[in-house]
Amino acid sequence: MDSTPGPRKILDAFAAAVLYVVLARLGQLFAMEPGNITPVWLPSGVFLALVVLRGHHLLPGVFLGAMLGNGWAYTDLGSLTAALPGVLAAVMNGVGDTLCVLVGVWALDRSGGIVGVFRSIRQLATFLGFGALGGSVISAVFGMSGMYLEGAVPASALFSGFTFWVLGDAVGVMLLAPLMLSFTVSEQEFPEGGAGILERLGLLVVVLAVPMVTPLLRTIDIEFRMDFMVAPLLLVVLLRAGLRAGLLAPVCLVAVHLILLNRHEALGLSMDMTPFVLQLLIAVNVASVLVVGALLWQQREMLRRATEEATHDALTGLWNRRSGIPRLEKELARAVRYATPLSVVLFDIDLFKEVNDNHGHAAGDAVLRDLSSLADRDLRETDMLARWGGEEFLLILPDTNLTGARTRAERLRTRIAETTLGGKHRITISAGVAELERGMGVDDLLAAADRALYTAKENGRNRTELASPVRPA
Ligand code: GH3
Ligand code: MG
Ligand code: MG
Repeated sequence: MDSTPGPRKILDAFAAAVLYVVLARLGQLFAMEPGNITPVWLPSGVFLALVVLRGHHLLPGVFLGAMLGNGWAYTDLGSLTAALPGVLAAVMNGVGDTLCVLVGVWALDRSGGIVGVFRSIRQLATFLGFGALGGSVISAVFGMSGMYLEGAVPASALFSGFTFWVLGDAVGVMLLAPLMLSFTVSEQEFPEGGAGILERLGLLVVVLAVPMVTPLLRTIDIEFRMDFMVAPLLLVVLLRAGLRAGLLAPVCLVAVHLILLNRHEALGLSMDMTPFVLQLLIAVNVASVLVVGALLWQQREMLRRATEEATHDALTGLWNRRSGIPRLEKELARAVRYATPLSVVLFDIDLFKEVNDNHGHAAGDAVLRDLSSLADRDLRETDMLARWGGEEFLLILPDTNLTGARTRAERLRTRIAETTLGGKHRITISAGVAELERGMGVDDLLAAADRALYTAKENGRNRTELASPVRPA
């Protein structure tokens, strides 16, 4: 439940209204007649994200902001009789834009939130179909009807106005909502590409330059269109700089295009791209970024899962032996190079067969799981615990000498002996501890720990034994 106090919510909604008007007016710098139909309606996407982030209490602010932000463009406040139809149209604009946000929020929720949109193409399609397109159609129906009834739009301009409105709202949703919401998701969820800072800057320069190439070449009478570059460029940004950059790049492209559309004459440039073509260009390209982003995410997710399965033990979740050996090799190399100590503890559950024989395999599994999480709990960042065999585990302790390793092993042994595992079982472990000595390889170190473990079993179990030092020949 939302526990924000009332006055905070009212203030929030009021701020939302102000922000809505500002964003609407910003978009209207590039608007078509009667002044409020824009190539990209910024508030649709921004407020979808904000309502998701802050709550539905923003909606009255959205309504108020949309009413004022639209009406501002065409309402004549000169006299009451002149203002009234404009105000009615503005109210309908407000209703339509609020519904657009509401439908967008609903569609995103149905798609499993921003993470869900990238997890499956079906959910992405739900978001795009209902959230971006459906919400925008509703908004345009309300908006255009209101303005037609008021007389601000002639019947002949209804179709073009409607199309422009729908695309403007839809592009606003696709362009800004996923981008804003992507910042609320952790890096691990939104994998970043491998590009370094220089490559990122280079890509940004190209993104900003591409829309300018065609008009600039025209000034020296060369007709060479660069618009076709947009799609591959955005995909390169997505693949190399990650999903967030892939969502940010189209925003930069739109910004440059809009400025050029508005200012090309003043700058002495010639442009034949219409706002409508720009809308289509952006809609198609942002949709491709979203689709490829979702496919990419699914692949990485599959890879992550496969890697997890290959390196971890399914029952206990610990590292498996396959990943323990290279880790031990690495730690050994490091210990030799920096002349630091390295120890291992090999431990094995005592008489574990009895648990299985007396209580069943499932009980044995539960004991193994509990023991693993107990042993895994207070490891240092640099330690590694792996399931080495059935009921045998290896603890790798970098920067730890034999005495330190024995203390760690004893602490673990006593803790396990004192704890009930798998619901009702008391078990003990035996441990063998060995420290790396000069000239030893991984196999020698493991063999030394194994011998010590064997001695611990021989000497009556539930105990820790140290490997005897290797005497130089
Ligand atoms: P000791 O003290 O000498 O180690 O006796 P022990 O009974 O623990 O040794 P033994 O090697 O005879 O038996 C090990 C048992 O561990 C037998 C095997 O069924 C059981 N075990 C190995 N892996 C698993 C597992 O994944 N789940 C279950 N439930 N049992 C397992
Ligand atoms: Mg055993
Ligand atoms: Mg064993």
